Amino acid sequence: MKKKLMAGNWKMNGSLQANADLVKALLAGLPADSSSAGCSIALCVPAVYLAQVSALLESSDVDLGAQDVSQHAVGAFTGETSAAMLKDFSVRYAIVGHSERRQYHHETDALVAQKALQALASGVTPIVCVGETLDEREAGQTEAVVKRQLAAVIHANGHCISEIVVAYEPVWAIGTGKTASPEQAQQVHAVLRAQLAAATPHAARVAILYGGSMNAANAKQLLAQPDIDGGLVGGASLKAPDFLSIIAAARVE
Ligand code: PEP
Repeated sequence: MKKKLMAGNWKMNGSLQANADLVKALLAGLPADSSSAGCSIALCVPAVYLAQVSALLESSDVDLGAQDVSQHAVGAFTGETSAAMLKDFSVRYAIVGHSERRQYHHETDALVAQKALQALASGVTPIVCVGETLDEREAGQTEAVVKRQLAAVIHANGHCISEIVVAYEPVWAIGTGKTASPEQAQQVHAVLRAQLAAATPHAARVAILYGGSMNAANAKQLLAQPDIDGGLVGGASLKAPDFLSIIAAARVE
């Protein structure tokens, strides 16, 4: 069975002291040889703390991730962070198209696709988030919405598409305590896998993560689904014991 990828999304939380305490507690709770944690682990932290967390993770196998990346390579784009800059700080992953950015920053499918393109061009793996709102689910549009969101990224990235990570995050489940049932999540993951398979012969190696109120109680069942290759964990990744319990549920013996 393929190794799961468990990525924490700290969102806009943290401080120098809180980050140091959290990373210390996480590393202390992982097996000494953290590759024997049985899954890959990443922390997606606010941009301003990338240097700090990069240093804190230096002697561990835990990867560093950003929460966004510019759609541009370089230039007069005040406030933006390029993929090459992320690479300078050993960033392995960049979340793109998180629903909070689609909602509050009006990011479109085309913009998200450009961000994925920039990330890949600099050797940063984009974690492309897709997911439907509650209204869209209730209107029976879930499949159409996630397929439209992923299609934009496939279209812009061509054969590189096998290098991305996808995160299915139903918007109604993010930060709400409501989780998609394992069956609901698997159904959407299978749709996404089929869409990837139509675009690349390497679709099986694309990790498709589930995100949305994942916790220690629901992680095992979600992660047991055939097309769920890991988790993108928001709130629960801010507490070391909670994230460690979720990581334990992802362990492939
Ligand atoms: C997220 O922000 O990507 C997320 C899944 O949040 P939460 O786990 O808090 O629902």
